[in-house]
Amino acid sequence: MALSEQDLAGIIQKVLTELNGSSSTSGAPADFDGIHQNVDSAVDCAIRAQKELLKLTLKKRGEIIDAMRQTVLDNNEMLADMAVEETSLGRYEDKIRENILCATKTPGIEDIQPLAKTGDDGLMLLEYAPVGVIGALTPITNPTGTVIHNSISMIAAGNAVIFNPHPSAVTTSSTILKLLHKTIVDNGGPAGLISAIAKPTLDSARELIEHPKVNMLVATGGKPVVRAVLSSGKKAIGAGAGNPPVLVDETAHIRNAAECIVSGASINNNIFCTCEKEVVVVDEVADSLIKFMLETGKAYMLTPDEVERVTKLVLTDKGKINTKLVGRNVQVILKEIGVTLGEEYRLAIFEAPKDHPLVWTEQMMPILPIVRVRNIEEGIDFAVQVEQGNRHTAIMHSTNVDNMTAFARAVQTTIFVKNGPAYAGIGLGGEGHTAFTIAGPTGEGMTSARSFTRQRRCTLVEGFRII
Ligand code: NAD
Repeated sequence: MALSEQDLAGIIQKVLTELNGSSSTSGAPADFDGIHQNVDSAVDCAIRAQKELLKLTLKKRGEIIDAMRQTVLDNNEMLADMAVEETSLGRYEDKIRENILCATKTPGIEDIQPLAKTGDDGLMLLEYAPVGVIGALTPITNPTGTVIHNSISMIAAGNAVIFNPHPSAVTTSSTILKLLHKTIVDNGGPAGLISAIAKPTLDSARELIEHPKVNMLVATGGKPVVRAVLSSGKKAIGAGAGNPPVLVDETAHIRNAAECIVSGASINNNIFCTCEKEVVVVDEVADSLIKFMLETGKAYMLTPDEVERVTKLVLTDKGKINTKLVGRNVQVILKEIGVTLGEEYRLAIFEAPKDHPLVWTEQMMPILPIVRVRNIEEGIDFAVQVEQGNRHTAIMHSTNVDNMTAFARAVQTTIFVKNGPAYAGIGLGGEGHTAFTIAGPTGEGMTSARSFTRQRRCTLVEGFRII
């Protein structure tokens, strides 16, 4: 029997593996797929893998990242399907858009371009160096998006990353992780550069947070996890919750505003942290706005009785969110109160008083309260209050530059979108790169490779200049 070159290579690899007990320079077993049973082994492997990464050229690092992007695109349908199936959150077609966005608009190695400055005193070079091993805690809402974005960004910056995914999204997060891990190894990168804990729990999260050899922590989730990483004593990035208001004034192009709000608030059934969560509209244009929202054919106006019943359904007696309904289609939610809606509907809307609990709660459901205000001053004041100091996202529809500037200054959010749906602010139909770790609390904003670096300066006194 004649052996092909490929067969021969496979046999040599197998023999070497059996002799050494491992096939990779990072010490991971030959069949390692990126999933570790415990935090200690993940950290040891990640430390070795990160050192191996730094031995590769930047060109090679770029090629590995390009291959990772392609892997996401090649497996997009399967991943989107799995995310919706496992978590019941969001919509298949929007998960597809989310994955494409993360694969194509997460910056790569170009984001860590060094900075050079020359002058009478010589040359200064500033480089964005890796931090080492990063522990990343990821949310149920974006089990693929966050892993894709974090993996590309963190590797581009020269790091290794260990994920502790949300326990209720572990199959999806582990699947994308394994695909990306295989791509890295197949393209000459070290095994274990990205990895995840097999059975993530709050205990494994704590272990990762407290591990002395984990250099940096990144939490994408609600307030408690952000608090947990920020109190670790380590360098940490906290990307926390939001409650984005959309403010509409009397100068806005109202039909456009209505269409943008319906589209923005219903994408992925409102589970993006950036989605419009409540509307604040100046009284003079409130009726037109609602009329145009209904004319999209995708928004359903709840009756006062339905509002009461849906509020009781969505919020428990203790004011907590009914998690079973988070990210579900509007049909599923309204069916619980006996309302049957056609498939064309994507959002339920209702007029709410200022103190309505759904105005103040990040529900992450396609149910959107609309609050009337007398004028722009009252609108700005109220929208700032409902944003609750998260410094996350705010949206405004207006043609008055003074009003837009006044709101942007007052609300102080990381993302401020004018005259478009909120998702334009994460690069979907808007300019700029994307991020699925939006760091309001710690100030990195729309994170990218550079966010996961430490700055190092090199100074050459009275040295090299060519002018
Ligand atoms: P979550 O906070 O419940 O979970 C996020 C991750 O943190 C999970 O892996 C979870 O296991 C872990 N975790 C939770 N509490 C912890 C603790 N005390 N100690 C250690 N680990 C802990 O969030 P979620 O329900 O998965 O996601 C939705 C939330 O995330 C929303 O509030 C949303 O606004 C926010 N979010 C923010 C961003 C952003 O970029 N700012 C992106 C996506 C989601």
